[in-house]
Amino acid sequence: MIVKKHSLAPGSAYNTPYHVIRGSQRGPVFMIVAGIHGNETASMKAAQRIVDQLRHGSRGIQRGTLIIVGRCCPQISYL
Ligand SMILES: [Zn+2]
Repeated sequence: MIVKKHSLAPGSAYNTPYHVIRGSQRGPVFMIVAGIHGNETASMKAAQRIVDQLRHGSRGIQRGTLIIVGRCCPQISYL
């Protein structure tokens, strides 16, 4: 499994980090988008927790790709 951090619109005011997690085998693609509404913090905390668990190895995927946008609108999020 590989976890990579990327960014949409890097270097701009709209810089939006996201993670791509690839399993070792081909499979479906699943996407988690959190923080669409900046005052709804539970989804952002949950997405960050999943990223942390994937990066530290306590959670993993074997097949496919998982894309996590943890804070969809960082300009308006309260976290
Ligand atoms: Zn909402």
